[in-house]
This record gives sequence, structure tokens and C-alpha cells, in this order.
Amino acid sequence: MTSKENEAIGVSVSSDGPRPCKRVRLNTPRSSTRTTALAESNHAAKSAIQSTSTQSKLHYGLFEIARPLGSGAFGQVYLARHRESCLICALKVLNKENFMCDGKERHVRREIEVHSCLRHPGIIGFYGWFHDSSRIVLILEYAIGGELFKVLAREDHFSEQRAAKYIAQVACSLSYLHKKHVMHRDIKPENILLGLHGELKLADFGYSVHAPDNKRETKCGTLDYMSPEMLVRGTVSYTNAVDLWALGVLTYEFLTGWTPFADNTVAATRRRICKLDMEPLPASISPEAKHFIHSLLVLDPPTRLSLEGVLDHPWIVKNCKSPG
Ligand code: AMP
Repeated sequence: MTSKENEAIGVSVSSDGPRPCKRVRLNTPRSSTRTTALAESNHAAKSAIQSTSTQSKLHYGLFEIARPLGSGAFGQVYLARHRESCLICALKVLNKENFMCDGKERHVRREIEVHSCLRHPGIIGFYGWFHDSSRIVLILEYAIGGELFKVLAREDHFSEQRAAKYIAQVACSLSYLHKKHVMHRDIKPENILLGLHGELKLADFGYSVHAPDNKRETKCGTLDYMSPEMLVRGTVSYTNAVDLWALGVLTYEFLTGWTPFADNTVAATRRRICKLDMEPLPASISPEAKHFIHSLLVLDPPTRLSLEGVLDHPWIVKNCKSPG
């Protein structure tokens, strides 16, 4: 991108490399009433963008950039407004020079292919995408509440009621994905965003894959959340039960503020995961919550609690029934 283009759109796109670790505290996005009103009333605007997208006429100049929302492995995400329709959205700007090597472009292609086919209230909306010589831009639903990771870091851990309500929401989104034969493969608090009413929305489909035969071999994801079957040496296939394992890790983390297998080195963490050598849960955690976690963090994938089982589990049922 030339500096002139930068001036025209009012943003300087960084060409920084990947962040070493997403577990970095950033400023929580500020919200504004105006943004909220616009975000709520723009169904027509989304269709406008989507129809423009079909005509392949989308370009950067159609958007007014407000401020950066965060950065990911291949670029930055900006709060933006579609000038014509006033739709508030998030523009995920991926710098081609950051991923056009080592086969990483496959990662981006997959993200677009998978995410563009998903429509669910528990998944960040995908409105369209375009590219130019230096970047690929994804037009996404703006999650006004920001990252769940930052909320968790701020609050240290969640009450059982709140954790169960969150886990039920993630389970519903995963159920939708699995019915569409998609494995997410990178469930973690950094990839869960919050909507206007505090509802959770899955984001970042960079590691997701459409697998109609429910079988994959590529080892990918974030170590703390990776399942034992994905970490064993050699080529071993795994199923969408990897997302159920990650859901167990997520539940543990929501309730304690830390992940169950984390150790000082990659090798040590990996060993602990493969041996199910879990950090004991604090005594204050209820027996139902412990049972729930132990039903998901099971070495044998087919015997893990299913997503239907998750939603029917007494810990979820009890905590999701009561208000608050
Ligand atoms: P990603 O490249 O998808 O990992 O996104 C990088 C960061 O940008 C995230 O960790 C969020 O803080 C922020 N972000 C990404 N997508 C959105 C969105 N749709 N709405 C609000 N913030 C977002």
C-alpha cells in the first residue's frame, strides 16, 4: 500500500510480523452509543455489502477506518464504517507479505472458505472480503464487547453459573460447526468475542477445516488446548472430538483462571496432556463441575462427553436454568 493510499483511508497498516503470543493484555475496546445504534440496525447494510461482494467491487476506499481493535498473526483488525450503508464492522487486514510463504496462504484461504459459509448468532458474521496487491481484507461483524480473554484476565476467573452459561453457548456454536462438518481446532478465550449483550461469538477460523469424513491428521492449534490424540508422535488421525477436549480445557480455565496442563516447556506441557496429568481442581469447585470437566478431558476421544451430553449435563442444566 502506498503512503497516499494510507492517507486516503486514514490508517497506517503495519507490516509487523506475527505477535509471538496472543496472551498479551491490550486495551479493551471502548464502545460508543452511536456505534451501538448503528450496529444494531444494519441488516440491510450487511446485505448491501454482501451484494457488492458478489459483484467483486469491494475495496478499501469504501470504508472509513476508526481505530485498531487488535492484531493477529498476519495483520491487524480495525473498527470501520462502510461509508454508503453506515454499517459498523471490523476489517481484518491481512498483509500478504506476512503469509505468502511456507504454505501459510493455505491458512488464509481456509479461513475465508470456512468462515464465509457460516451463519450463526454464536459465530462472528462474515460479510465479505476483497484483496489488492498487498493485502487481503475480511469484512466481519464487529464484536463490541471485545475479547473474552481480556475479560477473564481482568476478572481472574468466572463463577460457576457464568462459566456454565458461557460453555453452553460455545457448545451450541460448536454443535452448529460440527453439523456443517467443520472442526474449529483453536477454541480458546482469545478466539471468543463478546457481542452487544455479552453473548459469546466464536472467531478466528484460521485453523478450522471442513472435514466431511470427520478425520484429520494435521497437528495445529494452541498447545494448552490441544488434545492428546493430536499430540502423539507420528501420523495419527483425529476427529472433531478435539474441540470437545478444548471445551474441557476452557471450562477448567473459566473456573480457575489457569489451564490444566500448562508447564514450563512445550515438551513438559505436551507430556502432561498425553498422560492426563491435570493440575488438581480447587476444593471450592462443585462436584458437578468437576464431573463435567472430567467427562470432557478423557484420553479416549469417542468416550468424551458429546455436545448433546454437554447441554444435558446436570452442571449446565442447573446453572443455565437459574437467572443471572
Ligand atoms: P485475529 O487476527 O482474528 O486473531 O484478531 C486479532 C484481534 O483483533 C483479536 O484478538 C480481537 O481483539 C480483535 N478482533 C478480531 N476480530 C474482531 C471483531 N470481529 N470484532 C472486534 N474485535 C475483533
